[in-house]
Parts: sequence; structure tokens; C-alpha cells
Amino acid sequence: MTAQIVDGRAMGAQIKAELRADIEKYKQMQGRAPGLAVVRVGGDAASGVYSKAILRGAEEVGLAARIEQLAARTTPDELRALLLHLNSDKETQGIIVQMPLPGHLTQKMVADTIAASKDIDGISPRSAGNLFLGLPSFLPATAAAVMEILERTKTPLAGKRVVIISRSNVVGKPLAMMLLQKNATVTVCHSRTENLAYFTRLADVLVVAAGRATMITADMVRPGAAVIDVGINETPGGGIVGDVDFASAKEVASLITPTPGGVGPLTNILLLKQCVQAAWREVDGKSRTLGEVSYS
Ligand code: NAP
Repeated sequence: MTAQIVDGRAMGAQIKAELRADIEKYKQMQGRAPGLAVVRVGGDAASGVYSKAILRGAEEVGLAARIEQLAARTTPDELRALLLHLNSDKETQGIIVQMPLPGHLTQKMVADTIAASKDIDGISPRSAGNLFLGLPSFLPATAAAVMEILERTKTPLAGKRVVIISRSNVVGKPLAMMLLQKNATVTVCHSRTENLAYFTRLADVLVVAAGRATMITADMVRPGAAVIDVGINETPGGGIVGDVDFASAKEVASLITPTPGGVGPLTNILLLKQCVQAAWREVDGKSRTLGEVSYS
């Protein structure tokens, strides 16, 4: 068997086109585009590769995005004050705070302060709690990207065995919750899991996000499985490989994401999508459907 290879860039372009149309509809109703605030502490607005990529993507789809640049010496109270202002700002529907923060500022304070309704990267305890309880919530963008791939490829989940290699707060844990909601039978593996291959070979869907180059070889993949590779690992030659040995695993799997070009290109786009979702929820309190994929 040779697997269907997921083209993350093409999928990203499709989602962007859908977002553009959705934002146009929003603008006609609301008289302005949804607003996205990217908060940066330290450096300067021009220097952040991540912030610039988000801004570029936002511009492409028609979101009104801006960088809120603070000085590196910003105090916790000043950062909190900005976040509280953005929480109540009518022109801001989504808030992202670029990490890492300078050492005197904590991610916990940021996560505790951002309103769950604008927490489009799903970092707050409130967002995580809502997800845990099966209530509408934003997912961390990487987990959202994995769900988007599974849904757009119509990968069956109900009743299927899904094995996730990661228990991180941004990938493994939120994905496990989301996949339970989709009626999958979920197993979460981590660095202390004994006999990892035993679990991976059971998986109808295998999600790998360990950050260990090519740790998953073809013999660890169940024939016909869908394999989603989140890992990004630099090679000594300066290239990038995933956690899955793509060349051999693609001969066994039925569907597989490459690295680069699989999950990676979708992550930022899912942030934008969740910003649009936040904007619609503010309008009518409801979740929406975008293209084929319903917002959670
Ligand atoms: P992380 O916080 O370090 O989590 C890694 C997880 O993998 C942990 O749960 C860890 O177990 C587990 N793990 C590590 N080595 C393992 C092994 N040998 N066997 C089984 N489990 C193992 O990392 P992260 O921030 O979630 O990122 C994970 C990977 O995804 C990295 O390669 C990162 O670059 C990539 N990533 C990609 C995107 C994207 O857009 N594609 C976005 C974010 C991250 P323990 O909990 O026991 O330590």
C-alpha cells in the first residue's frame, strides 16, 4: 500500500480561501473585519518571525491584525493591564501573546488573564477546562491543525483506536480530549511508556509529537493506519524531518503527513480560523461551520 500524502500547503490555501469568504460576510454584517492582537514583549515589532508570519497570514485572509509591542522591561502589572484592555476592546476578537516572555514575566499570568472568549491559542486554564468538560473551547493551534487534517481527510474516528505519542499541554492532552469527543478510543503514550511499539501497532490513527527524529519506523505502523506527524526536528545538514520515518511508513500507512509540508503550514492558519470563530461567537453566541469543518 502507498499512502495518501496530505498536502498541508494545499489544505492551508483552501482554508484561507474559506476564511476570506467568511470574513467578507462578517464585514458586511459588522462593518469591520474581526480584530487580532499579537502581543510581543521585548525585541521590536519588526523582528519577530512568528509575529510577522501571523500578520502576513491575517492580511491575506482580511483579518485586522496588529502587533501590540511592549518594551522588554514591561512590568507584570503593565502586561496585565494591556491584556485586560484587550479583553474588553470591542475591536479585538482574538489575542495571542508571543512566547517566550522575558524571565520576569510568567506564562501563567498571561494564561490566567486572557479572556477565554478571545484565547484563540487555547492557552488558558479556562479554555483547557472547557475542553475537558466538552464545552466550546479553542484548541492550542497545533492540536487544532491535527483535528483539521483528520476531519478534512474524513479519517474515521468514531470507535477507532487512536494512539497519541505526547502528553504535552499543546498537543497530546488537548488532542486526547478532542478525540474522545469524536468517540475515538484514545491511548496517550509518553517517554515513560513501556513497549511503545506495542501501542503504535494497534493504532488505526497514530499521532506522533515527541520531537524525536524518525523514531517511528514502518514496522511500528499498523498496515492501513492514518499517520499524523507533528514532530519537527533539524537534521545535522540543516534540513527538517519529522518523528516518523516517512519514506518507509508511507508504504504501510493509508494516509500520512510529510515533514515539512504537513501539519506545520496549518498551525498558524488554525489560529486565524479560531480568531474568526471567536468573532462569530461574539456576534451570536453560536459555533459556525467553515467549509466542510464545523467549529468545535
Ligand atoms: P514537548 O512538550 O517536549 O512534548 C513531547 C512529548 O513527547 C512529551 O509528552 C514526551 O513525554 C513525549 N516523548 C518524548 N520522547 C519520547 C519517546 N522517546 N517516546 C515516547 N514519547 C516521547 O514538545 P511539544 O512542544 O509538544 O512539541 C513536540 C514536537 O512537535 C516537537 O518536535 C515540536 O517541534 C513539534 N511541534 C510542531 C508544531 C507544528 O506546527 N507542526 C507545533 C508545535 C510543536 P514526557 O511527557 O514523558 O516527557
